Amino acid sequence: MYWEKNYETLSKNELTDLQIDRFNTTLKYAAQSSFYGNLLQKLGISPGDISDIRQIQDFPFTTKQDLRNNFPYGFLTLPKKELIRLHSSSGTTGNPTVIFHNRHDIDSWANLMARSLYCAGIRETDVFQNICGYGLFTGGLGFQYGIEKLGALSIPAGAGNSLRQIKLMQDYGTTVAHAIPSYLGRLHEVFEMHGLTPQKDTLLRTLVIGAEPHTEEQRKRIEDLFGVKAYNSFGLSEMNGPGVAFECIYQNGLHIWEDAYYVEIVDPDTLQPLPDGEYGELVMTTLNRQAMPLIRYRTRDITRIIPGKCKCGRTHRRIDRITGRTDDMFIIKGCNIFPMQIEGILLKIPEVGSNYLINLETINDVDEMVVSVEVKKEWFKGDIHKLDLLTKQITSMIRDEVLAKPIVKLVEMGSLPQQEGKAVRVLDNRKNGI
Ligand code: AMP
Ligand code: ZN
Repeated sequence: MYWEKNYETLSKNELTDLQIDRFNTTLKYAAQSSFYGNLLQKLGISPGDISDIRQIQDFPFTTKQDLRNNFPYGFLTLPKKELIRLHSSSGTTGNPTVIFHNRHDIDSWANLMARSLYCAGIRETDVFQNICGYGLFTGGLGFQYGIEKLGALSIPAGAGNSLRQIKLMQDYGTTVAHAIPSYLGRLHEVFEMHGLTPQKDTLLRTLVIGAEPHTEEQRKRIEDLFGVKAYNSFGLSEMNGPGVAFECIYQNGLHIWEDAYYVEIVDPDTLQPLPDGEYGELVMTTLNRQAMPLIRYRTRDITRIIPGKCKCGRTHRRIDRITGRTDDMFIIKGCNIFPMQIEGILLKIPEVGSNYLINLETINDVDEMVVSVEVKKEWFKGDIHKLDLLTKQITSMIRDEVLAKPIVKLVEMGSLPQQEGKAVRVLDNRKNGI
């Protein structure tokens, strides 16, 4: 029933005691970093001082900006020789956010991942195809280590090349696959194009979907297309990556692992903690990370705690699927993108004007980012070839910055809607996007 019964079914009191203990240890490590070392001194708090877990609320929030301002080592608690891995997140202008791990951190993350997979009914007898980029993005190695820890046969397939993905599924009898939800429509199309159906032509029984927002309808659609159950997996690089919260077989919210994270939902305006059931911004504190603990990290993701107990018996509370963000970041093809990044690129190109519009659209079942950019009228009178070259140049510059390929459309100066006041730069018309 459980991967780690000792932890997954702790009573409220037992869990709270463990959290207090682990938060004190966390502070011991945090005190060794320059960022939290200074903060603890300012607050007059010493590791070991915590006797009530609500004392976490005496700490200020940590933000992505803090991580960037202290890039790369300001949050590091250990000498470099003790580190074994770093991951860094896309979706920033300027300094990226980077998280460092020592061996303990990687082991504990792998365990959380194995626990997550187990809770979605995945077992060592499964063949698990990880359709996901390996590299700095946490979805590749994060899942890889979890699958191995669980003992299932892993196929580190990487992202893209749908026909090859299907062949891998058929050759090795894949029973579980992990992919971003927006890719699965495309994958299904390729099945159809080749006269195949996942139901008849593969052994697939489970999908794990995550890394980007999706609706319940989108999940149902994926489940129907593939004839499988699709479980929601939530995580963010700052909290390791995947393995933060995961659906169990009852698919009724995502268990968020409270022995590893202290969870708060705060009102995005007042920043005051909200009771279970109310929607707000998810704020998290790592409780079992040594090399780079984070205290009260503002994830910007909007969700709520689902009140009540889960039928599976796990006592860790459940969060609802993410309904949006409190900043303007959007996610396309699994890449986190801020509109300012696109603007930053366009400003570097003298031929383009200052007006642009990002349309998020579902084209042939794939979510695309269409960037319309105004250029001077003369461009449309001259050599079409030059226009084509400029389009290609802008496309590759944006792709290099945000890692997702946009569809760039050059339009005549003055043809995009002019806005008074704060410009609307992003229109989200995706079928299932949030
Ligand atoms: P990254 O740090 O690049 O892994 O991106 C993390 C962000 O992806 C989160 O803060 C969420 O906004 C989003 N995300 C990850 N998993 C999910 C999910 N299952 N549902 C909705 N959004 C997700
Ligand atoms: Zn459950």
